[in-house]
Amino acid sequence: MDELITWPRGASAGPEGAGVPAPAGVVGGLAAEATTGIATEAAEAAAGDPGGWSVGLDVGGTKTLGVLVGPDGALGPRVRLAARPGGAGVAGTAAEAVRALVAEAGLAPGALAGVGIGLPGIVDPVAGRVEHAVNLGIEVAVPLAADVSAALGGVPVRLENDLNVAALGAAHLLPDPAPDLAFLALGTGLAAGLVLDGRLRRGASGVAGEIGHLVHVPGGLPCPCGQRGCLEQYASGGALSAAWPGPGDRPAPVALFAAADSGDAGAVAVRDRFAGAVAAAVRVLLLTTDVAHVVVGGGVSELGDPLLRVVRARLDDEARDSAFLAAMHMAERVTLAPRGVPVGAVGAALVGRKES
Ligand SMILES: [Zn+2]
Repeated sequence: MDELITWPRGASAGPEGAGVPAPAGVVGGLAAEATTGIATEAAEAAAGDPGGWSVGLDVGGTKTLGVLVGPDGALGPRVRLAARPGGAGVAGTAAEAVRALVAEAGLAPGALAGVGIGLPGIVDPVAGRVEHAVNLGIEVAVPLAADVSAALGGVPVRLENDLNVAALGAAHLLPDPAPDLAFLALGTGLAAGLVLDGRLRRGASGVAGEIGHLVHVPGGLPCPCGQRGCLEQYASGGALSAAWPGPGDRPAPVALFAAADSGDAGAVAVRDRFAGAVAAAVRVLLLTTDVAHVVVGGGVSELGDPLLRVVRARLDDEARDSAFLAAMHMAERVTLAPRGVPVGAVGAALVGRKES
């Protein structure tokens, strides 16, 4: 069901990509109380100078999440629409989401400084095109930015990779004046988005943070990338579902952790292997970038504190015999993405108002 809600009331949508429907209900006005700790200078630097109202959209295979962000960085109304496949479907849904959000705030689309869209696939932020977004039903390059802009009467529209907008959104929500973090997405796959010293790091060829394809187990499970034993095969939602298919009445991570808690030795082994692989991902991120925070998001982060506990415990175990690792305080630098906030859409709104 399509919904328009005002943040943060009724905020139960779960972490980024969690896929948990928020309660329905239309509430007028902006939630000014939601501004605490956001709109940091560095986050703005990451996205460019703030230029007024903007809308951010996080486009996924099943839904589009949108949020209106005010000139001061405050989060306004948000919307959730069911996905429609293909370039025309994605563009139409995006335009519909923008119209709904600006109408809720009593604005016209022309009042927006811009619209940012985060989406999977190969995204060309400069050309405003996306291709190979299989989950969206997009194969060949689609000029999505131009298509959505045309549908909205010429409002500037910018595209960005979904992981990058999640990292920017997580940075925006930190109280730090110079947000420095890796957003570790535990979804179907495993990858990280990086905001270093307040700036998004895409990489020379756009693959910065693709740590899911570091070899974790030499000669291990085959990976679609062509290697064997990739970290993604051990530390992702897809890996958990494969290792613990479960009865199917609950998401695999939930079923696994419940079984482990009840003492099932097999579940404990799977959970510990998973925690070890996630800890390895955290360690790699800290040792290569020394980011202040590793923020864990994606569908698996819906587990909440039980996930955080096992990952932190594993990091502490590893630090026990290493003064070097102990001095890094790895465990305390890992946090979960804020629940009930559409982190990716927030980051997309920052991209949308970039002056470039
Ligand atoms: Zn791989």
